[in-house]
Amino acid sequence: MSPPVVGVLAIQGDFEAHARALRDVGGEPRIVRTPEDLDGLDGLVIPGGESSTMTLGIEREGLAEPLRELARSGRPVLGTCAGLIMLDREHLGLLDVTARRNAFGRQLHSFETDLDLDGLGPLRAVFIRAPWVEEAGGDVEVLADVDGHPVAVRQGNILAVAFHPELTDNRTLHQWLLAHAGVAS
Ligand code: GLN
Repeated sequence: MSPPVVGVLAIQGDFEAHARALRDVGGEPRIVRTPEDLDGLDGLVIPGGESSTMTLGIEREGLAEPLRELARSGRPVLGTCAGLIMLDREHLGLLDVTARRNAFGRQLHSFETDLDLDGLGPLRAVFIRAPWVEEAGGDVEVLADVDGHPVAVRQGNILAVAFHPELTDNRTLHQWLLAHAGVAS
């Protein structure tokens, strides 16, 4: 069987580290910059970076609607940090949450902590000017929080975290993507 092909949105941000993580778990990463790059994908990563720059790039390339179609087809999507912001109500509208940008404030630009994600297990989480989920709808499952603020959520086939799983050796979230790739037609 050929490995699942998982796209990594590469408008901007740390897409290379995600591509490596996907290879580590037996996936075949594909850099996504245009709507055509989404053809035939089994899943998608929206990486961290700068959400305002990503928004402009998505607009410029006409990627918003094709990205929504991919997510709505049931294929797994993992959004990390700015990727979580891109999935929220005010951006792609694929997750029923409102994200708050740079939520941890200036003093906590960047920090690490141990989290235990419901159903996914423990991992070390690296936060870099991270958002948190300010408000979430009833269909959204909160998998982990920091001081009561949700930082890992799942809604159906979409998993979003406020931290950077690609910066540690833990591959749980990329494994989740591969495990769910191929479930949709
Ligand atoms: N602060 C960035 C934003 O608001 C997100 C940071 C990140 O992805 N590491 O878009």
